[in-house]
Amino acid sequence: MTKTERTYLDWNATAPLLPAAREAVIAALDMVGNPSSVHGEGRALRMLVEAARRDVAALVNTAPAHVIFTSGATEAANLVLTPDYRMGRTPLAIGHLYVSEIEHPAIREGGRFAREAVTTVPVTRAGVVDLDALERLLQDHDKARGLPMVAVMLANNETGIVQPVKAAAEIVRRHGGLLVVDAVQAVGRMPVDIEALDADFLIISSHKIGGPKGAGALVSRGEVLMPAPLIRGGGQEKGHRSGTENPAALAGFAAAARAATADMAERNARIAGLRDALEASMRLAANDVIIHGAEGERVANTSFFSLPGLKAETGQIAFDLEGIALSAGSACSSGKVGQSHVLTAMGFDAALGGLRVSLGPGSAQADVDRFLAAFSRVVSRRRVTGNAA
Ligand code: PLP
Repeated sequence: MTKTERTYLDWNATAPLLPAAREAVIAALDMVGNPSSVHGEGRALRMLVEAARRDVAALVNTAPAHVIFTSGATEAANLVLTPDYRMGRTPLAIGHLYVSEIEHPAIREGGRFAREAVTTVPVTRAGVVDLDALERLLQDHDKARGLPMVAVMLANNETGIVQPVKAAAEIVRRHGGLLVVDAVQAVGRMPVDIEALDADFLIISSHKIGGPKGAGALVSRGEVLMPAPLIRGGGQEKGHRSGTENPAALAGFAAAARAATADMAERNARIAGLRDALEASMRLAANDVIIHGAEGERVANTSFFSLPGLKAETGQIAFDLEGIALSAGSACSSGKVGQSHVLTAMGFDAALGGLRVSLGPGSAQADVDRFLAAFSRVVSRRRVTGNAA
């Protein structure tokens, strides 16, 4: 292997831009005008934005009118997580937000809710949201303060573990609450259907499926129950998100959404084959490797593992020097590797580091082989420190 050869195994952080998305972005960048203008140039861009809306709606099996484009999943989360709602013209108060402990910080931070109005819902040792705990929390919810809102992600970004969203929805319905589902890591990796999940809102992001960064959407179940806008101004996106749309980013998002829905079962079966072979070989090379969530339901592309005695930061650097781009459980925006809040929530010792390999449609056996060769070298260099397990 030459020094410059790199192996990208961090698709959950960002998927490489798909060629079709790149082409769509570039074609749209060259279009003149503003999608809100009534002249021909503006109308052409409006058509492009609305075609993108149809493609993104199809990704989660809903009507185009239910898609609000945003600058990404984080913005979509901040739009939907607010105590301030309207049911048609009538104001509706949401009293408290319940978020699973393993949510991405975009959700766990609670959006526009006051800190004291956010409660975390624990997860089990198996890394799934504790539904009994959710039931108890909603039983104790004080409806006089407003309705409860619950946020449970569909697939966890660190472990890939699929969460029991449908079962959570049943509990939320029984208590008259609203359910927000972060489907960022699920779209393209498993079928996602807002109706089948019985969710009120879904959050999705373009760059996790091969579209450009800086585009995402809040998808609503209908158009009656809606959050107060986060960004006010010219009234674009039916007043839910003002600001001139970014047609280039949306065209790229749409191309990625089309690719994500095409041949999904075959694509993910192939990716699962690569991931499962990778995990089997890791177990052979290191019999103490812990593969998180391997016994339960996971999306096909993710493997989150710990090697007792190897810190996440040390492991990530070691793999990077080997030419492998993978991720430690949680990378702060500063680039520093923090403790995985997911492993902590699952009850693991804070000293146990987690490393994440995430694959995608462009991953090949050669990538897995290069990773495994590096894995063997990292394992043989590992210094077991006794108390780190
Ligand atoms: N939710 C999950 C599960 C994620 O993995 C991410 C990205 O890391 C986000 C939300 C935030 O997405 P965006 O980068 O589009 O703001």
